[in-house]
Amino acid sequence: MKYCKKCVIPDTRPGIAIGSDGICSACKGHEEKKRDIDWNKRRKDFEEIVKEAKKLGKSYDCIIPVSGGKDSTWQVVKCLEYDLHVLAVTWKTPLRSKVGQENLNNLISLGVDHIDYTINPEVEKRFIYKALTRVGDPGLPMHMAIYAIPLRVAAAFDVPLVVWGESPHMEYGGTAEDRKLNQLNHDWLKRHQILQGTSITDWIDGDLPKKDMIAFHLPDEQIFQERQISSIFLGYYFPWDVEESLRVSLAHGFQVREEGPKVGYYNYVDIDCDIIAIHHYFKWLKFGFTRLFDNLSIEIRNDRMTRAEAIDIIARMKEQTPYGDISKLCSFVGIQESHFWEIAERFRNPAVWSLKNGKWIIPGFIVPDWEW
Ligand SMILES: [Zn+2]
Repeated sequence: MKYCKKCVIPDTRPGIAIGSDGICSACKGHEEKKRDIDWNKRRKDFEEIVKEAKKLGKSYDCIIPVSGGKDSTWQVVKCLEYDLHVLAVTWKTPLRSKVGQENLNNLISLGVDHIDYTINPEVEKRFIYKALTRVGDPGLPMHMAIYAIPLRVAAAFDVPLVVWGESPHMEYGGTAEDRKLNQLNHDWLKRHQILQGTSITDWIDGDLPKKDMIAFHLPDEQIFQERQISSIFLGYYFPWDVEESLRVSLAHGFQVREEGPKVGYYNYVDIDCDIIAIHHYFKWLKFGFTRLFDNLSIEIRNDRMTRAEAIDIIARMKEQTPYGDISKLCSFVGIQESHFWEIAERFRNPAVWSLKNGKWIIPGFIVPDWEW
């Protein structure tokens, strides 16, 4: 396992490449953001998109996919500033947290219509269980729904613009070509590894028949063209930074998680749904890093922390196994926790982990004196 020289991301992270200079593609993307991107020009491009959406919009001008998080609030604030008529759309997580609901209520009160799209829990349970056992990610159905529902609603309501938050390729690593993509569509999703190279058709069977899985289906490709639907990342047009979107959302009523971070380093990210921490947890077994590594690397890239400080924090905060959330997920899906752990263990990656004196260890781990 090789780590980036600048941040703490290992080369096992999907989509990350560490160059011959020892620097990862996410760090390079960050430098590019500061150095090469003409943000003034991109803001003007956004203004053109807004004009076009207002011209084409018959009901709403744009859809904003929202969870109730700080980025959702930032997206809504930004679009309202540009006087767009907004329909906010949420995939309703079956495990929504209290602060998540409160933040969502606050976001709606900023002045948008909202759809809280609920999927039949029986279907969701079966799909989550299948994703957990087949690819070691109970968050896969969630991500499929998060991408598909807003685009389906855009097609159904004839809304010409969908405004997503940050561009994952620009912020978390992607090739130079990927970082230039600013349309979340079929092609983009194929490149992005969050769906583990699968699409909805790979999951349909007797247990999960097609008619029960409509909410997870992206609209057909030609609908994007016919309806002139543009599906853009706001972070492509305005420099995205966690601190800046937090500042904006706090000024508009967003609440952080008072008890501290749920997973990772921030008490204002990944706080609205109790499935997300488990999605992140599997990175530990599969790739030997955790959500902390992602968050702290952002802090390093923004010069708010040194690499040595980040490593100390990892040593102190450990792997953050989300036992409470795992317990909630097991009771939602209807399985014993022991069965969950049995399944999880199947995804411990032997290319990352080794057995030493009866204990699993990661050879060459970034914290040298880690207690395994
Ligand atoms: Zn890096």
